[in-house]
Amino acid sequence: MNLSQPSRLRGGLFGLLIGDALGVPYEFHSAASIPESSAIEMTPPAHFERAHAGVPPGTWSDDGAQALALLDALLRNRELDLDTFADNLLDWVQRGAFTPDGRVFDVGLQTQRAFEQLRSGVPAANAGPDDERDNGNGSLMRCLPVVLVTTSRDEAIHLARKQSRVTHGHARAQLTCALYCVTALGIVEGLSAADAVRAAEDELLQRYADSPDEAELKIVLDGRFDAPQGSGYVVDSFWSAIHCVLSTRCYEDCVKRAISLGNDTDTTAAIAGGLAGIVYGEDAIPGRWMAALQHKALVDVMLAKI
Ligand SMILES: [Mg+2]
Repeated sequence: MNLSQPSRLRGGLFGLLIGDALGVPYEFHSAASIPESSAIEMTPPAHFERAHAGVPPGTWSDDGAQALALLDALLRNRELDLDTFADNLLDWVQRGAFTPDGRVFDVGLQTQRAFEQLRSGVPAANAGPDDERDNGNGSLMRCLPVVLVTTSRDEAIHLARKQSRVTHGHARAQLTCALYCVTALGIVEGLSAADAVRAAEDELLQRYADSPDEAELKIVLDGRFDAPQGSGYVVDSFWSAIHCVLSTRCYEDCVKRAISLGNDTDTTAAIAGGLAGIVYGEDAIPGRWMAALQHKALVDVMLAKI
């Protein structure tokens, strides 16, 4: 698809935010209880018991807020100062920065533990829990802005891993973020999504061959053989999103497919929607969803600085 780079990058960020907002009302529901595809909208059908009932339709959640917190930190310093990023995250959770209306909701448990570490004085680079059980998707869901400020794979991998450490310190979460960003970069450069995933896998396999991270990388890559669950586990979350991108042919179908998996619907749709926005460009995002996005002006101001 012959799209301009700005259209792809804007599409990526709006694709993430709109996927997140679209998925918010459906979170915590099993796949079986998600409405049929045609009924998945910012406002669910009347009979549907929506999650986060007090949140206005079109509001992004923690995924979108943390992505904007990361983008802000990257715009201030393209090498990413982790103290700035950590301050932004605390500013979000304590004061509602980077939200449409100051409302903070949907904060992940692992991320909350990282914030406790930060508040007790642990350096940002070491604040993320790093046990094998600490491999939630909370750093994957927000890492797309790395691709908005970088052009090289080296830098994308470095920044993707670095940003993860503040809340998700385990190599598996870090490597999944790197895999996502290198995939996204490949699509920005014009590869098909399928080719971009393959190229990203090859890139990382080569890079981490015979290194301490090789075994963890193989665990990440083997996730492709499991059925997509739309869960909060970082490996399943990544491959669920890739499944949605590769099995659909437009932005709308991709994020609806993500939500139809149930469970962590907003995050799967944010991760998949970020990639689909890059694949199809900003103009391919349905106008009714773009119009429904709360506080779009905040995003436009930040995108103008890239
Ligand atoms: Mg969320």
